[in-house]
Order: sequence, then C-alpha cells, then structure tokens
Amino acid sequence: MAEWLKRGMDVQQARAADRQVRVVVEAALADIEERGDEAIRAMSVKFDDWNPASFRLSEREIEACLSRLSGQALDDIRFAQAQVRNFAQIQRSALRDVETETLPGVFLGHKNVPMRSVGCYVPGGKYPLLASAHMSVITAKVAGVARVITCAPPYQGEPAPAIVAAQHLAGADEIYVLGGIQAIGAMALGTASIAPVDMLVGPGNAYVAEAKRQTFGRVGIDLLAGPTETLVIADDTVDGELCAIDLLGQAEHGPNSPAVLLTVSDKLAHATMEQIERLLTIMPTASVAAKAWTDYGQVIVVRDYDEMLAVADEIASEHVQVMTDRDDWFLQNMSNYGALFLGPRTNVAYGDKVIGTNHTLPTMKAARYTGGLWVGKFLKTCTYQRVETDEASARIGEVCSRLCALEGFSGHGEQANVRVRRYGRRNVEP
Ligand code: NAD
Repeated sequence: MAEWLKRGMDVQQARAADRQVRVVVEAALADIEERGDEAIRAMSVKFDDWNPASFRLSEREIEACLSRLSGQALDDIRFAQAQVRNFAQIQRSALRDVETETLPGVFLGHKNVPMRSVGCYVPGGKYPLLASAHMSVITAKVAGVARVITCAPPYQGEPAPAIVAAQHLAGADEIYVLGGIQAIGAMALGTASIAPVDMLVGPGNAYVAEAKRQTFGRVGIDLLAGPTETLVIADDTVDGELCAIDLLGQAEHGPNSPAVLLTVSDKLAHATMEQIERLLTIMPTASVAAKAWTDYGQVIVVRDYDEMLAVADEIASEHVQVMTDRDDWFLQNMSNYGALFLGPRTNVAYGDKVIGTNHTLPTMKAARYTGGLWVGKFLKTCTYQRVETDEASARIGEVCSRLCALEGFSGHGEQANVRVRRYGRRNVEP
C-alpha cells in the first residue's frame, strides 16, 4: 500500500481552480473575434503594460536584440538548436510515406504532408523561456512548414533579447512580442495585422493552455502543455540531495507546478524532505518553488517496484526522472509519461534546455493519450487510393454495393453499381 508522507493538491483538484481561468479566456477570445487588433492591444496593455507601435519586430529590432547577447550566449543557443534540429531530422527520416498493393490492382498509400502555417508560443512571463523557440520553431521547419510565426510576451518591459535571438536563429518567419491569451487569440483567429495560422504549438501558463484548448477546432493544437509537472522515481542508489534539487528545480517553474517523489525507500523519502527544507532557505527562486512544493508537492512511499510503476502510470506526469537500480525496466514497462530521464547522470533541465529531445510535453494527465511535441505533429498523414484494373474496380464495387444496401445508402450504392456495370460488364448480384 502506498503511504503519503506528504500529500499536496492533486492535478485534478487543481483544475477546479482553473474554472476562473476558463471564464477569463472565453471573454477575451470573444473580444478578439469582435475587435481584432484593438482588443489585442487593450489586453497587451492591461496584462503586460506593453503598447509598442508594432507587435511585429523589424529586422533592425531583431539585430539589436542579437547584439545585446555575448558571443558565448549565442554559441550556446546555436549548440542547443543544433541538438534539437539533429534529433528532429532523425525522427523525420524515420517517418516514411507508404504505398502498397493490397489486392491485385488496388493501391493504397499515405503521404506525410506538412502543415502550411503554424504559430509557436514561447512563454516569457516569469522567465524568458528561450528554449521553447528551439523546440517549436526548429521542429516545424524540419517538418517543412512554410510559414512559422512566433509570439512571446515582453520580459521586464521589453522584448527578451535571448528569446528573440532563439526565435530568429531557429528560422522564424515572423516574430511578435505579444503574450498570453492575446497572442494565442491573434494567431488562431487572425486580425488585420496578423494572418491566422493552421495550428498552434508551444507551452505556456494556465491562460495560454486554456486559450489553446478553446481555439481547438478553429485551428489545430499540438497538445495541452500547461504548468510543468515532475515525478522523481528513486531508490537508495541515489541520495536525498539529488532528489530534492530535481524536485525543486522543476517546482520553481511556477506556484502550481506539481513535484512528486515516489520511492521504495523510507530513508530516502525523509532525507529528500530534509534537503528540500535546506535548499528552500538558499534558492534564489525559493518563494515560487516553496509555494509549489507546499501546495502540490507529494512524497509517496510504496512497497515495491511494481507498485512504483502502477502509481507512476496513474500520475501520468509530464517529466519522469528515474534513478533506480532498474531504470531500463521502467523504460520497458511504463506507459504514461511525457518524457523519461533515465539515470542520475541526466535530468529534466538537460532535456528542457539543450540535449535535443523536445521539451513541450503533455501535462494534466494528457500523457495517457499523447506524447510530446515532435516533428510528426507538424505533419498530416493523408491517405490516397488508386484502382488500376477493371477487374479490381468491379470486385470492390460488388462488395461495396451490397454493404451500401445494408446501410440504406442508395446513392453510395449507385456509385459502386455504375462501376461494376462499366468496368466489370455485369450487374451486382444482391
Ligand atoms: P507565459 O508566457 O505562459 O504567460 C505570460 C502571459 O500570461 C502574460 O503575457 C499575460 O498576458 C498572461 N497573463 C498573466 N496573468 C494574467 C491574467 N490574470 N489574466 C489574463 N492573462 C494573464 O509565461 P509564464 O506565466 O511564465 O508561464 C510559463 C508556463 O509555461 C509555466 O507554467 C511553465 O511551467 C510552463 N511550461 C510548460 C512546458 C510544458 O511542456 N508543459 C514547458 C515549458 C514551460
């Protein structure tokens, strides 16, 4: 039986608090639909105190942002982007178009067709999350998307130079300094100054995630990538300090970021809780991390590894850091996770920032039905068919005609009948 040494609000409970967010987003999107650019500007002033002549950055403004970064910072951004691009290209090359002859004369196939335009949201309210630009923009470009536009909020009253550099170096076609619901609304619904896109991608806070959810249908969305969650699965092969920093390192994302320790070791559970108290007295971001830990942090001690696996699959966390004497067993057997970080030598920050796997990952238990953002999300797998012989057309047509009759679809049936008569030179037997 699992024992909770510390129990926080669970993600489902937390969603009840999101009802308020839902109402705000609904009203804001209706306003954008009605007043377009005017509504966007009003919201940008209200939420971000941001009222530039144009939300779109010019070439000159982009260059000015790049010139404010050190050579080392630009090299590091290029290094991270090279890792993301390389892995996305490898994943793209593993996706094959298919064409096969399923019956004599019958050819079925599918093609992976890139979307024509996407909007990439790069979060930047609390921290300038430049890595999200690599994850969305580069991956879309590798997929072959022709128009990739990107929005990020202002940071401390101006465009964040590091985000703009990452957006530009990733190959964005249009860069806007616009945050939150107004950015999502503008990209999804379109305004006089921003042409709408076909799909929205990228993480963001609860307002961003909810705005994506509400615009789904008008546009595609990648997945619901809301406030970050982390689950550390550990045993006595690691110590409390490593577990504590891996939990708090993610809790610092925001006050509603769940961080959970799941372990078979009572000793490790207590040591981790002690280390968390110590680290919270020295971390510069302790105020946010402490709130997240108090409200959403959990420490769960279970009997054995099977129970650890069952509880982990139930939690379906966005990030799962596994540090045990059987990491590969978790890789083989776990079903519900956004991304796995196997062994103590790697961690979520490596994945978030630089290693090359995508950091836009499912939250709020969406890992039960989707993985994270990847090159395949920008491709539509579209099928086609071709019938090359008269006999194949007549053979399929006869079965089709009888199936249509079972459904009472006479028009459909006649589509088949005419081909059986024309290409098979016979009538369909009932
Ligand atoms: P953000 O860019 O997502 O949101 C900032 C915007 O929120 C502002 O521009 C503002 O317009 C809007 N906003 C703030 N308060 C508002 C209010 N009361 N009403 C309406 N709009 C409001 O940046 P952030 O807030 O720092 O959040 C980033 C989020 O992204 C974090 O929660 C982080 O955990 C998450 N994240 C998730 C993933 C993932 O893959 N799931 C990856 C990275 C980051």
